[in-house]
Order: sequence, then C-alpha cells, then structure tokens
Amino acid sequence: MAFRRWLLCEVCRIEAEQTMIKRSTRFTLFFVPLFPVKPSTYYVQCANCNAFRRMDSRAVARLAA
Ligand SMILES: [Zn+2]
Repeated sequence: MAFRRWLLCEVCRIEAEQTMIKRSTRFTLFFVPLFPVKPSTYYVQCANCNAFRRMDSRAVARLAA
C-alpha cells in the first residue's frame, strides 16, 4: 500500500510530493502474520530530497482520510 500527498518535508523544508509506504510485519508466511503484535510501520519518502523517515500510523491515517 502506498499513496502520495503534497506535504512540507521535515528534512528539506520544501513542499514536495511525499510517498507513504505501509510496511507491515516482516514475518509473514502464506499471508498469515506470525508476529502480529507490532503495529504496521509507515515510511515516507520525499520526492525532493529522497529522504526516508518513519511516520506515526495515526498521522498517516489522518492524511489518508
Ligand atoms: Zn525533502
């Protein structure tokens, strides 16, 4: 899952397209999560400076709405 939003980048301080990538638990086998304890992690990549940073899943949910 990935989506894009035009936002101010915290790294380069320029308003650029930010791609949000959902990264769920890595330990999946036949689509059954073996360790479903950890909440899914989101990574945001800036189209301007290409910096990756983690984002709080609740903040992403606000942006996705
Ligand atoms: Zn940036």
